[in-house]
Amino acid sequence: DVSAPVIALAHRFADELPEMAVAWSAADVAAPRLLVLNEPLAAELGLDPEWLRTDDGLRFLTGNALPDGAKPVAQAYAGHQFGGYSPRLGDGRALLLGELGGRDLHLKGSGRTPFARGGDGLAAVGPMLREYVISEAMHALGIPTTRSLAVIATGKSIVRENLAPGAILVRVAASHLRVGSFQFARATGDDELLRRLAGHAIARHYPQVDGPLGLYRAVVGAQAELIARWMLTGFIHGVMNTDNMTISGETIDYGPCAFMDAFDPATVFSSIDEGGRYAYGNQPGIAQWNLARLAEALLPLFDDDQEQAIGRATEALSEFRGRYAAATLTGFRAKLGLTERDVDDAALTSLTEDLLALLKAGGVDFTSFFRDLARGSEGDGELADWIKRWRALGPDHEAMNRVNPLYIPRNHLVEEALAAATDGDLEPLHRLLDAITSPFDERPGLDRFTEPGPPDFGTYRTFCGT
Ligand code: AMP
Ligand code: MG
Ligand code: MG
Repeated sequence: DVSAPVIALAHRFADELPEMAVAWSAADVAAPRLLVLNEPLAAELGLDPEWLRTDDGLRFLTGNALPDGAKPVAQAYAGHQFGGYSPRLGDGRALLLGELGGRDLHLKGSGRTPFARGGDGLAAVGPMLREYVISEAMHALGIPTTRSLAVIATGKSIVRENLAPGAILVRVAASHLRVGSFQFARATGDDELLRRLAGHAIARHYPQVDGPLGLYRAVVGAQAELIARWMLTGFIHGVMNTDNMTISGETIDYGPCAFMDAFDPATVFSSIDEGGRYAYGNQPGIAQWNLARLAEALLPLFDDDQEQAIGRATEALSEFRGRYAAATLTGFRAKLGLTERDVDDAALTSLTEDLLALLKAGGVDFTSFFRDLARGSEGDGELADWIKRWRALGPDHEAMNRVNPLYIPRNHLVEEALAAATDGDLEPLHRLLDAITSPFDERPGLDRFTEPGPPDFGTYRTFCGT
């Protein structure tokens, strides 16, 4: 029996920050079709997966039937995109339905809003499934991220390069507060709004901190840890604009992102990133640049005296380097199966630097390398010498296999699954999801999912998630 549940959505964002919320409704979806539902996440949210699959459930998931008292809003934000400032971005094709269990329930592809500018407010099946796959892979890898609850085909074609089937992604996040949210509040010139936004962010994400400077420090730390995790798994976000960087420290807005195969810091996949601004190796620097923009936005709250405020912000931002370096070292120590007793920080730093130089020179696959090491691979040439040096430290191979993934959403597999899904065949998508949602445990029959793409995938290009 699947009777309609009572779903009580909260609306802290809309209630506390009405200046940044525009009440809005989702576009009609006449013939919704569920493509994928995240049952464990539904259960976490207290939503009955069986009910979500019913007509009423799908109407709820598309924003077409709202629980009593629900007031969906489009959120306002600003942002630097590829370094250039836009004072008014906002949810052009997205809606915050409300908060469930303290987390945002958010729709992407739900129709034009007052922030849509030239956009159609819609989203295509391929890119929405792409966000679903990559975000759930990130979650399974233990990397903080927004989650994906469902993708629903709208039954309507939308205009892209060709016609594409339309879809809505239902996303769950600790919040959708971004660096760009603070830039928007600051640009209004209303310091009281800015202070209210900071208070809202503290209450939701960092209740232990003391005031706006404490908030800023916490975001710097969370982002340093997050970017270290990206770097340790070869994840390239691809569009690290300030509107795509969260205050919570979760990865958000999966557009042209991808995992690197052969280790090379210059790797870029996004077709629109012509200058390589968001290349793999640039990510820590870009994160700091974005955090400097956050500091600028918060400056009036740090101190009445501008010089003092700048001094505090600079000092807080300077903590990024140490936090990032420490997280990276801890991560590499684990990836290499070592403990602090096996190798101290200085020795580990040189061991890691030497390794990365060899991986780059040899074009070695950054994911399978660590599993091969744990399997006893000997390597050749200079890499063989490095492996002997490493092995002498007494690494724990089983511990390595608990932190180094075997199955990641490799580019060729993702493309294959999305192409099939766009043509109506969901089998490859579900096989891929099965593999990547348990990334560490080797299972029979999944060898295909461990191999780098064919050579012609060397020129892989991703397109901004639309
Ligand atoms: P993104 O690069 O996907 O994070 O989006 C940047 C901005 O463009 C945000 O304000 C989005 O809401 C907006 N946007 C992206 N695609 C569309 C679309 N198809 N229709 C309306 N707005 C869009
Ligand atoms: Mg975005
Ligand atoms: Mg987006």
